[in-house]
Amino acid sequence: MATKLADLAKQVSLSTKELREKMTKLGFDVAKNARTLPDDLAELLLAELKPEDVMPEDDDTAEIYDEIVHEQLEREIVKKQRKQMAGKDASKKKDETADEPDVKLDIVEIPEVISVKELAEKSGIKIAKIIGQLMKNGILANINQQIDFDTAAIITEELGIKLKKIRSAAKVEDIVAGNLDALLKEDDPEESVTRPPIVCVMGHVDHGKTKILDAIRKTHVIDTEAGGITQHIGAYQVEKAGKKITFLDTPGHEAFTAMRARGAKVTDVAILVVAADEGVKPQTIEAINHAKEAGVPVVVAINKIDKEGANVDRVKGELSQYDLQPDDWGGGTVMVPVSALKGEGIDQLLEMILLTSEMENLKADPTREAVCTVIEAHLSHTLGPVATVLVNTGTLRIMDNVCVGSAYGRIKLMKDYTGKNIKTADPATPVLIAGLSETPVAGDILQVCKTEKEARTQALSVATIRNAEKERSSTINQIISKINAGELKTLKIVLKADTKGSLEAIRDSIAKIKSDTVAVKIIHSGVGNISESDVMMAVASEGLVIGFHVIIPAQVKNTAEREKIDVVIYKIIYELLDNIEKLLTGMLEPEVVEVVLGRAEVKQVFFTKKDEQIIGCKVTEGKIVNKGKLRILRNSELVGTGDVLTLQKGKDIAKDVAFGNDCGIKYKGTVLLQENDILEAYASEERKRTLSSQENE
Ligand code: GDP
Repeated sequence: MATKLADLAKQVSLSTKELREKMTKLGFDVAKNARTLPDDLAELLLAELKPEDVMPEDDDTAEIYDEIVHEQLEREIVKKQRKQMAGKDASKKKDETADEPDVKLDIVEIPEVISVKELAEKSGIKIAKIIGQLMKNGILANINQQIDFDTAAIITEELGIKLKKIRSAAKVEDIVAGNLDALLKEDDPEESVTRPPIVCVMGHVDHGKTKILDAIRKTHVIDTEAGGITQHIGAYQVEKAGKKITFLDTPGHEAFTAMRARGAKVTDVAILVVAADEGVKPQTIEAINHAKEAGVPVVVAINKIDKEGANVDRVKGELSQYDLQPDDWGGGTVMVPVSALKGEGIDQLLEMILLTSEMENLKADPTREAVCTVIEAHLSHTLGPVATVLVNTGTLRIMDNVCVGSAYGRIKLMKDYTGKNIKTADPATPVLIAGLSETPVAGDILQVCKTEKEARTQALSVATIRNAEKERSSTINQIISKINAGELKTLKIVLKADTKGSLEAIRDSIAKIKSDTVAVKIIHSGVGNISESDVMMAVASEGLVIGFHVIIPAQVKNTAEREKIDVVIYKIIYELLDNIEKLLTGMLEPEVVEVVLGRAEVKQVFFTKKDEQIIGCKVTEGKIVNKGKLRILRNSELVGTGDVLTLQKGKDIAKDVAFGNDCGIKYKGTVLLQENDILEAYASEERKRTLSSQENE
């Protein structure tokens, strides 16, 4: 499992001391007195050090290297073609069968437009022959004549050579927007083959998502040298009736939504796990809405059928209310009763996944350069930035130059989900890769580039656009401009309220809002505070989060700010409806928003008089301001509001008291404070909305 440092040093013709120095220089974190290295690290180090004699360090030489490889390849192709042509002349019939196995080598890549001379060089066909062939097709051409791809393809095909268009690098905008479709449409339909489906597992907490993934992994993981033991890389593959299925093994819809929020559409089928004894729960509904929004087909696993109180029919009845009609009741959703605990029904579940995915007609082109999506990434102590990627199309190869979001690099190490080193990965295969310049994020698209320089340029462009996006205005402003420009057809809203009653009332009222041009769609609604998942869902659907009498925890607020998602909290239904109506008609007034300034914990109550108290606090976040407004949280629940009448630091009145300090507060409010209560200081700010005047000009 480990490689001796001395052996490694020998392999790269260095002394052990020199090797240590080199490692430190390269940023490898290894103990000073270590005599061995983990194999992974040794391999990566070799990849870094060994190629030095052949592989240059700077870009220009890197390009020269690439060119040499290219030239060599071309020469080989030319040689091959010459041989073939010679064979063809001697015996055409024999040639047709004899050359069949080599047919793949007859593919020559050319750009959209090419000169006759270049075509001859690349294809190995004599110039005279090309000109002759062109003449036969009614085109008079000289040696420098530029011909287009289609013409070149016709004449070379007649000479037994197939041409392929060199794909231009994907548009950076598509990469940033996670627009996989733009990249996948370059798949050659003739070369495309059926690929395994990529499946995720969603559902309410404790309904058995993890257990189902475990049960599937235990019984169906493809036998490997490692004895079927999987490593956690975020995904694995199983085989059923000779067909592969790829599972994302991070259960829950958070991962799913986080990826979708970046535009990534990796999942082909979602398994919705519902416990047979508990039935539909809030997160079940959330999961249904996520899948619906993403347009991903759902297979339901009704789990825990072994348990007392399990009632499959009741669950089916409940799901019917959410547009999931069981197929055995004449509907369109497959529902499989399973017991993850006993391993019952798992086979049938896998069969149903295969059946569902077959209807999706999933294809990919293994002959092209790979396009992948990052599903997990982190910084490894020994390997540096590593990422698990799923190959969407093409074949990913070790030593490929890649651009992954704003990271770039050369794949120096590639492992499958069993931890085995591999050199190539087919479509839908999850692999762990190392060799990147920085840690990418889930949902980033990986693209193979011809040279390291191209990869670096592409990554830099992505970083530039992303930085500019950070400056972009919030979603609401974009929504307003889109409404005004008549580009937005549906306003998508995630709605949260404090009670079921108010939720229903608001939902009904929103449904009644009329606009000639824009429809309102509540993509998800629920009772409770705003959650991370709500925000991410709004990001994924380019919508808004609206809350009624609920709070947004500080962490969730951070996410919303980072993602530029507007979370608007109302206390009066009329205001909420009025604002939505105004938004739809592009007449929104400047909005008053609440900004959380900080938090403090009540340590001691010194004095109480009616609705006033004097308390001692410690500021735990941000700052508390004098004469400011407060929200009172007890056990994370909002219990009341109040005001800071006087703020003191030590003996002095203070304008504000910052994080980490103690303070005294004279407080007045709707509830009496207790020790451990959290005071959330907030301020109302008027935010002027830009009503897209610039866009309309
Ligand atoms: P998750 O939160 O959805 O990932 O749920 P887990 O997979 O962690 O399962 C929650 C609990 O339900 C665990 O204690 C499991 O052992 C139990 N559980 C899961 N599947 C079954 C099942 O089929 N039958 C029974 N009786 N218990 C199960």
